[in-house]
Amino acid sequence: MAAAAAAAEPVAIARNDVAAATTSVSQQDDDESVTTEGADDVRDDPALTKLVSVVAGFERANHEPAANIPPRREKSRLLQFQDSWYKSYPWLHYSPTLSGVVCFVCAKAHASGILKFETKAEPTFINSGFFNWKKAIQKFTAHQNSSCHKQAVLLLHQTTAGQPIVAQLSTAHQKQQQVARRCLLKAVQSTKYLLRQGLAFRGHVDDDSNFHQLLKMQAETDVELRSWLQRTTNFTSHECVEEIQNIFADSVLRTIIADIKNQSKIFGIVVDGTQDINSKEQLSLCVRYVDSDLHVHEDFIGLYQQDDTSGRAIAATIDDMICRVGLDMNFLRAQTYDGGANMDGKYNGCQAIIRDRFPLALHFRCAAHSVHLVAQHATEADAIIQDCLQWVQEVDKLFKRSTKFHRIFETIVTNSGAAVHSSNIKPLCPTRWLCRHSCSLVSCRQI
Ligand SMILES: [Zn+2]
Repeated sequence: MAAAAAAAEPVAIARNDVAAATTSVSQQDDDESVTTEGADDVRDDPALTKLVSVVAGFERANHEPAANIPPRREKSRLLQFQDSWYKSYPWLHYSPTLSGVVCFVCAKAHASGILKFETKAEPTFINSGFFNWKKAIQKFTAHQNSSCHKQAVLLLHQTTAGQPIVAQLSTAHQKQQQVARRCLLKAVQSTKYLLRQGLAFRGHVDDDSNFHQLLKMQAETDVELRSWLQRTTNFTSHECVEEIQNIFADSVLRTIIADIKNQSKIFGIVVDGTQDINSKEQLSLCVRYVDSDLHVHEDFIGLYQQDDTSGRAIAATIDDMICRVGLDMNFLRAQTYDGGANMDGKYNGCQAIIRDRFPLALHFRCAAHSVHLVAQHATEADAIIQDCLQWVQEVDKLFKRSTKFHRIFETIVTNSGAAVHSSNIKPLCPTRWLCRHSCSLVSCRQI
């Protein structure tokens, strides 16, 4: 008889579970009141009230050692509760009164009255007690994933934390935002450092680039930055880094323009053009102005591709560049170029076209270029100077291209105790003629 009763219990529980699940699933859409009523029945049960009162008094679930839990007979086998189940399902609470387990979380939430609107309450894990060890894992997993259990966990956590769950999520979100903001600031500071030092950003591959390596170096001592770098690619992408660079460039440009407008108003321009590595003409624009302390400033404000190199096209480009940065061409008082006919030409040169519209924008031919030309032509008339320069050039080639002579030169410089400690002979600058003077002096001293 005892065996038959024991065998009947699991069937009854299983039937209860199935009935509860079926009721929840089938009625949740079309008759919510019936299921809610069922939950009320469970709550009004005196036996349940007693049980949940006992459970509510516990600080944590009662994990009775499996050896103290009597085994259940399943036909000819004896099934034993397993201690390892407590590890996988820490909410399991053994009740000696029921000789079975209930869910500590659901029972406590129910006892506290916070689960009263839950429509999928599972009485088995709240008051009946579960002891069908044969299907234990299957039923425990199902309960753990049930909406009743999840709701109970959330509500109980909310109650114990003393803060609404929405507020807790919001706080966590805010903290995450703060961390992301701080890490983004690190990326901006790294960009600023590379710009300040004039270092390249990219490498052959992204991982080898200065920018990524600089961030990784900082991440070695910053756990949050390391974690942010692992999950973020947008803020370290080429597009984003270029955008940050442009923001820095705009900021510098705005400062220069503000200085001109507030301190000087009038300004001059220095324009020169040259071909880049792709054989495209690039026009550089510098502004020259005096601040309130009468200090002269000469600032580079842009490089622009110039496909048409005629005087009219260059004048239009300059007009456009000045307007874009927010300056007024009416305050242009000086314009300087390198001496090319398209720029300095008397009738169709860029300067003439600009002066037609703005007569106060006086034209000055670049003095440095003029001095270079004068010096170059003057030296051509003197064979001694020509030979001297030629010799300096040849000596430079000799010591640079031969490692043997280079080593000899280094030894001579070291032994001589000369004030000039450079181990190289200064080369003659091919474009800036006046630089040759200082180069020649240094080279003669070294030799
Ligand atoms: Zn539960």
